[in-house]
Amino acid sequence: MADTTLSRNTICVQGGYTPGNGEPRQIPIIQSTTFKYDSSDEMGKLFDLEADGYFYSRLANPTCDHVAAKITQLEGGTAGMLTSSGQAANFFALFNICNAGDHIVSSSSIYGGTFNLIAVTMAKMGITATFVSPDASDEELDAAFQPNTKAVFGETIANPALTVLDIERFAAAAHRHNVPLIVDNTFATPINCRPLEWGADIVTHSTTKYMDGHGGCVGGAIVDGGRFDWMAHADKFPGLTTPDDSYHGITYAERFGMGGAFITKCTAQLMRDFGCTQSPVSAYMLNLGLESLHVRMARHCENGQAVAEFLASHPKIAYVNYCGLPGDKYHAAAQKYLPNGSCGVVSFGVKGGREAAAAFMGHLKVAAIETHVADARTCCLHPASSTHRQMTEEQLLAAGVQPDLVRMSCGLEDKADLIADIAQALDKI
Ligand SMILES: *Cc1c(COP(=O)(O)O)cnc(C)c1O
Repeated sequence: MADTTLSRNTICVQGGYTPGNGEPRQIPIIQSTTFKYDSSDEMGKLFDLEADGYFYSRLANPTCDHVAAKITQLEGGTAGMLTSSGQAANFFALFNICNAGDHIVSSSSIYGGTFNLIAVTMAKMGITATFVSPDASDEELDAAFQPNTKAVFGETIANPALTVLDIERFAAAAHRHNVPLIVDNTFATPINCRPLEWGADIVTHSTTKYMDGHGGCVGGAIVDGGRFDWMAHADKFPGLTTPDDSYHGITYAERFGMGGAFITKCTAQLMRDFGCTQSPVSAYMLNLGLESLHVRMARHCENGQAVAEFLASHPKIAYVNYCGLPGDKYHAAAQKYLPNGSCGVVSFGVKGGREAAAAFMGHLKVAAIETHVADARTCCLHPASSTHRQMTEEQLLAAGVQPDLVRMSCGLEDKADLIADIAQALDKI
């Protein structure tokens, strides 16, 4: 099913796996750590990346590969891989091309976990970062680059600030400085936006969110668009363009070309050494979610839009962030990048600040308080006291998180029930 003319709706259902005669209709769960060979020679070829095949599930597993292939097709990429989590996906995507002494330009409006990863943990590894506003001008963007910059990072729809990345402009800035743009497309999903079509080079996902969609499995994915020419900037990316001593002198960009080098290196080196694999059972469950992604996203967006409109008209609400609202700062960007809808996540401030927000959340009955977003059940969270509590007041504001901000992830329930629940909770405060 490598047919690229198929609609994303059909890829959701059938992509990544085509059974042969008499084979299972559903993707089989290959729950095996290891694979048997008749000779050591054959296995040796796999270790040298000279032959295709499986030998150990830390590096590759057929179930995971089918699901990765589906996500790759959905994003319109050339190669992809699953990881154990979204955190692992973003870390691998960045660390695959950044060494100690290198530098990243990142949007400041990103997920709290990714902010910690880049600003704190990767800094300990000697990789520094400059954070720029998602609204930065071209001049401000250009000024953020250094000679050692190796990547630009942003989120299509940022969690939780819900800013919309100007992907085309960020890609152009990255390419002016000869580095790739990596976009975390978790909230939009490839149903609502394909960043590769707007110039991004690599896409990452927390598949934990809409792709799984049922709050069942933590997971991540990386997809390469195959259009970044590593060899043209060989001096910047020696890991891809010079021989890998840990793989018998393979040069990834030469052996696997633009379409395959990034993911092959990421699997062969980072998965081998860090082992952040997704289990075959998790991949199987992720695929069940993917089979209905296109159906679910439309309902998430319908519910998000209805809840946002209700909140925007309510006297006890201070502000609403939802790019589907005509007055939203990112409405024009959403019309360009997300013409079919954005996502089911709405964020807003309750008049009365932090205390009022907490009281409001305590009165909700249908929506549950959870550290989660983007699953079938509506849930809400106060980021400043949970996911983003490590941040200083200044960092919070740069990430677009006001202290009174409530993030509500609209699930797949009936929108009238969601609105009634919010209305009764607001009445009580
Ligand atoms: C949740 C999330 C992550 C982290 O993913 P995990 O699967 O929780 O590790 C990364 N980016 C975004 C945008 C997220 O929402």
